[in-house]
Amino acid sequence: MSEHQCDALVVCCIDFRFQKYIRDWTDKNLTGKNYDLIGFAGSTKDLDMVLKQIEISVKLHEIKQIVLIHHEDCGAYGVESMPERHAQDLKKAKQEINTKYPEVRVYLYYLHLDGRFEQII
Ligand SMILES: [Zn+2]
Repeated sequence: MSEHQCDALVVCCIDFRFQKYIRDWTDKNLTGKNYDLIGFAGSTKDLDMVLKQIEISVKLHEIKQIVLIHHEDCGAYGVESMPERHAQDLKKAKQEINTKYPEVRVYLYYLHLDGRFEQII
């Protein structure tokens, strides 16, 4: 067992417009839990890079839960920033994570410009 364990990992985009929404969401939904936070342009768009970070988080902090957040009007996706594309990439990321770490629960969200979190099933 590692010295410092962590409950969850949150992966989101760097976009400043959404950070307060994400903070409010984690305050409400990860209450009393601690979590690692990773920000990449496009969130999981560069999946290989994200998987490397996840590997570290899982091994070092033994996280049990991962929250992947994509958002509307994402500059990293440009004209491809459509809800369907984000849902597709989120599901792909979840699949790859669960192939490597079947015991980790993965939750997917599409964050709208108005701050609404839409869960992707
Ligand atoms: Zn973005």
